[in-house]
Amino acid sequence: MSQIDSILGLADLTIQRVDRGRIIQVWASPKTRPSCIHCPNHPVRIKATHLRTLKHTRQGNQLVVLYLSVPKYHCLGCNRYFRHPFKGIRPRFRATECFRLEVFEAHDGGVCQSKLSLTHKISSATVERWYQHHIKKRVSELSSRPCPQILGIDEHFFSRKKGYATTMVDLKNHKVFDVVLGRSEASLQGYLSRLRGRDQVKFVVMDLSETYRNIVQRYFPNAKIIADRFHVIRLVNHHFLKMWQQHDPVGRKNRGLLSLMRRHQWNLKFEQKINLNEYLEQYPVLRAMYEAKQKLNSILLTKNIRAKGARELIPKLMELIDQFANSPVKTLAQTLKSWLEPIVRMWRFSKSNGITEGFHTKMEMMSRRAYGFRNFENYRLRVLAHCGWNGVFNRV
Ligand SMILES: [Zn+2]
Repeated sequence: MSQIDSILGLADLTIQRVDRGRIIQVWASPKTRPSCIHCPNHPVRIKATHLRTLKHTRQGNQLVVLYLSVPKYHCLGCNRYFRHPFKGIRPRFRATECFRLEVFEAHDGGVCQSKLSLTHKISSATVERWYQHHIKKRVSELSSRPCPQILGIDEHFFSRKKGYATTMVDLKNHKVFDVVLGRSEASLQGYLSRLRGRDQVKFVVMDLSETYRNIVQRYFPNAKIIADRFHVIRLVNHHFLKMWQQHDPVGRKNRGLLSLMRRHQWNLKFEQKINLNEYLEQYPVLRAMYEAKQKLNSILLTKNIRAKGARELIPKLMELIDQFANSPVKTLAQTLKSWLEPIVRMWRFSKSNGITEGFHTKMEMMSRRAYGFRNFENYRLRVLAHCGWNGVFNRV
């Protein structure tokens, strides 16, 4: 590769003339004559030559325009015709692949279409078309990958017309695996039955949803379910506050008190503890419940412990659940009991669906920036291109 070739970034070209004006104009032609593409090793003759005008990358602040003379060859062996094939320039395109990639990366990085149409001298519709093309390429690269070992499942709101969508996240690599429209088994079964490598999934992290539990048991035969810490604590607090409402409807409306009751005990300041104690003095039953709840939460928040530690904790949890079973929050005890295994696994495990919820925020931002999506497939492409793809394109 000569020096001028390495500046242009295109192989096997002879530069004839360079004109540096407002834009950089480069006249070039192929360096070598290929042999026939239909019957190898046969000599060819040039039948005609035509000039192609191509936009190439920007150098400094100037656009490079390439005038390429393209020979049309005639094979003396098979009597067929073909045009000179170039590396990095596709037939009939009016820009090189480098240039298209440059526009895509700039637009992906946040440069708007109108700005790009000024700097790169292309229309905004072209920017959009190239952007879509690259995003589709990205997603097609993703389509053949197998299921992740540690999967996070959660639902999120898509649109009022189409309802909810399910997010599947690769929790090991912090990437969105896929988004699927719908959150019921009926709407997901088509997608899930087509999914390859389902038996490779080892763990699935999810909130305490019965539907998702059924789906996982049916479609991911080797997966163990892990409860999501945040949702478990939220469930406990929800039941506790509801019980409090029945116990003392007036106190529940006091917002200062509500804030104290909701917090973990270790997040309370000294005077806040005194205030809360003063209130709880009046209701002995409520007080017992409050203490049980705090104990339960501190047990539930355990993480990263060994199997032995978990085995020791289980009886303590069971004792608390039994205590709740004989109180007004019976349903809580039932739910916890039916999710006992996923909750115990949660102690052993460090990952939670926090990553999934973080991606939901990112997806909301994407949706907002596009003023909402009507077409779910376009939304999916965008989400996967931004949150599911690992690395950059190889340069052509
Ligand atoms: Zn030939």
